[in-house]
Parts: sequence; structure tokens; C-alpha cells
Amino acid sequence: MNKRQQIEYSSILAQIAADKVKRLKSFILLISGSLALFFLLNIVIYQQAHAYTLVIALGIMLFLYWFACEDTLPIVSSIFIWTLTLLAFFFAWNTEGLYDTSLLAYPCILVFCAMLNNRVLIASSALFMIISIYCLAYAEYTGLLASPLAEFADWRKAHNTALVLLVFASVVYILTQDLNRLLDKLVKMHINMLRTKQRTQRKALTNRLTLLPNEIACSQYVQARIYRHHSAEQLSALMVLTLNNLNSINASLGFDIGDKLINMIASRLNLLNQSNAKVFHSSNNQFLIFIDETDYHDIEAFAHQALQTTFFSNYVEQYEVEVSACIGIAIAPHDGNNYDALLRRAHTALTSAVQLGHNQFAFFDLEMEDQSKARLAMLAGLKRAIEHHEFELFYQPKIELATNTIAGVEALIRWRKANNSLVSSSDFIPIAEASGLINEIGLWVVKQAAIDCLSWHKLGFNQLGVSVNASPEQFKKGNFGSLVLKTLKQQKLDPSYLDIEITESLFIEDEKNIQSQIHQMVSQGVSISIDDFGTGYSNLNYLTKFNASTLKIDQSFIKNMMHERNQYHLVDAILKMSHAIGIENIAEGIEDKSTANILMQLGCRYGQGYFWSEPVPQNEFCTLLLSWPKGRSGPLTA
Ligand code: C2E
Ligand code: MG
Ligand code: MG
Repeated sequence: MNKRQQIEYSSILAQIAADKVKRLKSFILLISGSLALFFLLNIVIYQQAHAYTLVIALGIMLFLYWFACEDTLPIVSSIFIWTLTLLAFFFAWNTEGLYDTSLLAYPCILVFCAMLNNRVLIASSALFMIISIYCLAYAEYTGLLASPLAEFADWRKAHNTALVLLVFASVVYILTQDLNRLLDKLVKMHINMLRTKQRTQRKALTNRLTLLPNEIACSQYVQARIYRHHSAEQLSALMVLTLNNLNSINASLGFDIGDKLINMIASRLNLLNQSNAKVFHSSNNQFLIFIDETDYHDIEAFAHQALQTTFFSNYVEQYEVEVSACIGIAIAPHDGNNYDALLRRAHTALTSAVQLGHNQFAFFDLEMEDQSKARLAMLAGLKRAIEHHEFELFYQPKIELATNTIAGVEALIRWRKANNSLVSSSDFIPIAEASGLINEIGLWVVKQAAIDCLSWHKLGFNQLGVSVNASPEQFKKGNFGSLVLKTLKQQKLDPSYLDIEITESLFIEDEKNIQSQIHQMVSQGVSISIDDFGTGYSNLNYLTKFNASTLKIDQSFIKNMMHERNQYHLVDAILKMSHAIGIENIAEGIEDKSTANILMQLGCRYGQGYFWSEPVPQNEFCTLLLSWPKGRSGPLTA
């Protein structure tokens, strides 16, 4: 038995002892009552002697009642049993010897011993009783007793009484032994049950992976802490910390590495535990931190510290893993005075923090709640839109500036609601990305674009390819490349007719995972364009790493290049650079002829914008193709 088991065992034994004390006290009361009645009957009514003996016995009983407790249990039990035994013997000796009714008390006393579960008392008192029987018989025999019935005394009666007492005591002794064994078994079972219960409770409150307390533990802890103080000056903060890119780390390096990384971060966060701050691990990529009795300054400092623990250099086995984390913070009592309200609002703040970028934290404010309600409504709408096929693809031509031919087409998604109103992609794509719905939507785009591209081929424009936009989110699961190729195969479109437009933000995501998917597609003939070039990292190294064949200069530069010298030079520089590294270029957002002409003079090969056409539905795009002045089209890439 280890130390903890011993403690459990002794606490149960203490409980049993407390029950025994209760039982003993009720026996004492019972006997005291009987003695009082006996006193009344024999001394007061029938005027017999030995009043003092009875009064002393009664006094002893009352003393024992007062004295009985867990610690004095053995001694009180012994005094109680021996007082009764001696009293019975005393009356037998002084009255009718072996024929006295007081000897009937002997079996009752043995039953008390059994009830008190005391085998030593049974054995010793039974022995005394048998000896006392023979003493009485001997006393009668020798005439020591002046009992009126003494002349009837014989040894046969003593033998029989002793034998009956012996059998009775043995039965009681055996019963007590059985009772003891049963009690022991019950205690052990009870301890096991307690231990299983404790283990289950502990498991239910612990995160299996990191062994940190989990969300249930957090809710109990937070609830208990915020109930304790109600003043508005005493602040508490509930923080939700999420590791943004854990899914892509799992997808590229495996769950094993992902789990090790979580454990590493968990143990660093655990070091932040202080008397007023406690860290919990609520789900795979999410931690909860509760800080009590604090102020805004401390909360901010703590959030900084927590973020720092995550973007330390994370070496997991041979890999250096970049972790990006964000924190949403809700403050009690301002943002809520119960756990659920705080958690909900901390999550709302987290959404804003994630939108701010990597390694950011945000405090909850009420405006966020309105935005989040609008986002939720939009999300529900998007789910319905997928079910009811409410998406459409619009197409915008990409023009070769020198020849004015349609060299390619960009597919841009629109959501046509039941009331026929159109929702622009920039309004719903961010929500589709954040919710993961973009995966389903994105594959539908590839499929529909392939179907429409084949229909242009049937119209005779069999060189025309189609570009689709892909969000970083779509690469996170790691199977986007193979899903795209599978879709093209199903639609029977050669991969060389598909161009995928990705943005520079993809480069800061998990590089290896994305690179392998892009290589997979490129090896089958799919081409890659870098959309909105110039707005992000503009890291040239990535262009070659990701096999990009075309740079799409962002429309913000194109729009202003005619009026702002800086923008003009920037566009010029991007074009020169693209020539130098042998990569195609296209300018987006061209709205007038002069911009198109200038771009052509600067060496821009392709253009796209309202100057030629806004994005239009498929049927209008077919009309546009057929009515195009030169009616000629060709592939975008050189
Ligand atoms: P983007 O890929 O850079 O698309 C160009 C955006 O500029 C389109 O907006 C297009 O309608 C608009 N545009 C084209 N020419 C001009 C012009 O001359 N002037 C002006 N002012 N605007 C012009 P749209 O369709 O609202 O798309 C916005 C963004 O939404 C896209 O930017 C793209 O990043 C994203 N998107 C669109 N469709 C999809 C899709 O199917 N999947 C994903 N993941 N993203 C998409
Ligand atoms: Mg695009
Ligand atoms: Mg763009």
C-alpha cells in the first residue's frame, strides 16, 4: 500500500470507527435506561438491597457515554462489557446463584461484543462467564452462597450452562470473524471505487496530449475566481491563444511533429503560470489563459510574453518550424461576468487578431460583436449557397497588348442570391477562407472553369486557357494539387489550359507543403501566376521556387502610374525585373487606352481591365469571344 492508499484506507477506517462510537453510545443509553428501570423495579418497589451497586453502574455508564469517542473506543468498549459482565455476576452471586435471571444477561453481553466487532472482548468475556458459572456452582456446592435454591445446585446445571455459553460464544466469534472479513472486503472495494472515480475526474479535467488542465477545468476555475470579486476595479482576463498554422504543419511534417510542437509550446506556456495566472490547453491548437486581479497594462505585457513563447525558434527533431499565434482577450467584469460570455467574446477578439496578421493580440470591443454577427449570417448564407448552387463564374479576358488578342481568361466567382442580387467575391471570399468553405468552393471553381474552357474550345478558340484564383487556405490540407489534377482529368481538360493565380501571402505559409503541391501541378502542365504582385513580400527568390510563369502587377500600381512618378518607376522596375528573370508579365486594372499604351511601351506584354471588358457571365463572354475584332486568341505564356 502506498502513502496515498494508506491515507484513503485510514480515512475509511476513521469513518467505520465513528459509526462504532455511535453504536456504542446507543448501547450505553439502552443499558442506562434498563439499569434505571431495574433500579425502580427491584430497589424502590420490591425494596431489595444493592442499590449502591446499581447507582455506581449507572454512573459508570453515564461516564462512558461522555467519554466515548474514536480514540477511546477500545477502552470504553472494554469497560462497558466488563461492567455489564461483572454486574450480572454480582447479582447472581448475591441472589440466586446459578438460578438467577441476571445470568440471562451473559448471551446479551456476547451479542454486544459481536456488534462492537471486538473478538478479544468476546473471547475474554466468554471465558470469564464460563469460569463464573463454575464459581457459582462451587460456591453453591460448598455452601458459600446462602441462596434459597442452593440445595438444588448440581454440577450438571453448571456444565450445561457453560456448554450453552461456549457454543453461543463460538457462534458469535465466527460471525464476528465473517463480519470482519466482509468489512475488509468492502473497505477495499470502496477504496478502489474512490480511486477510479478520482482517476476519471482527473482525466476529465486534463488535456491528454499536454497534461495541462483542459477547458472544463478552465470553466470551473474561472467561474470560481470571478465569483469571488465583483468590484469593477478588479480585472480578470480570459485569453484564447491559437496556433494559426498548425494544420499546415501537421499536413506537411506529420501529426507526430505537430504533437511534439504543441507539447513544446505547452511547456513554455506552462512556465507563465503564476499565482494569479493559469494556463489551460483547451483543444489541439488552442490554449486558454486566465489572469486574475490584474490591470490592462499587465494583461498587455502578459499577452506579449505569451506570444513570444510561441515564436521562439522551434526545433522539432531536425525541423525548424515557424509558428504563428494570435490571442483574443476578454476582460471581466466589463465583457462579461461568467465564463461562457468571456470565452465567446475572447473568441470574437481572436477573429480580429487573426485578421490583423501573424502574432497579434486584440481586446474585445462591442463593434467586433456586430461584425462577427454579420460574418455568421454571411457564413450561414454561404453554406446555403453551396447547397443551392448559387455560385457563378464570370470571365474577364487577358489581352496581348501588341496584337490586341485574347490570350487568356480569368475566372472570377460571383454569388447570385435568390433575389438575383450579385455578391462580389471580395465580400465573401475572406469569410469562405476563414471558415474553410473555400476548399469546397475552390474545387467547384476549377470544375466549372474547366467545363466552360472546353465550351470555348468547341466554339473554335481551342488555344484559350483559363486562370482560377486559389487562396492559401486551399493549400493547407496538402491535397489541393492532386484534387485539381483529378478534377481536370474528370472534365477531360488538358492541365496545360489551366493557370492558377496565387498571392505572395502564400509564401509565408508552410513552404514545403505548398511547394510540393505546386510542383505536382506544374509537372502535369498547369501554370502558376503570382497575383497582386508588389503588394506583399515581393521576394524574387520565391518566384523560381514556386515555378511561377507570370507576374500579375497589382492594379493599385497601374491605377496611379499615370499620375504618380513613383508608381510609374515601380511598374517599370517590375517589368524590367520580369524580363531579366525570364518570367511573363501582365498588368491588372487597366481602365484606359493611354495606360495600356504606356505599359506596352514599358515592355508589358499582357493587360487585363475594364478598358477591354469587365468580368462577364459565361454566355456574354462567349458573345465577346465571337465578336472580338480579330477573333484570335492564344495561350498567355510565351
Ligand atoms: P484578383 O484575382 O486580383 O481579381 C481582380 C479583381 O479586380 C476582380 O475583382 C476584378 O473584377 C477586378 N478588376 C478587373 N479589372 C478591373 C479594372 O479595370 N478596374 C477595377 N477597379 N477592378 C478591376 P473581384 O472579382 O471582386 O475579385 C476580387 C478578388 O477576389 C480577386 O482578386 C481574387 O483574389 C478573389 N477571387 C475572385 N474569385 C475567386 C475564386 O474563385 N477563388 C478565390 N480563392 N479567390 C477569388
Ligand atoms: Mg486573380
Ligand atoms: Mg489581382
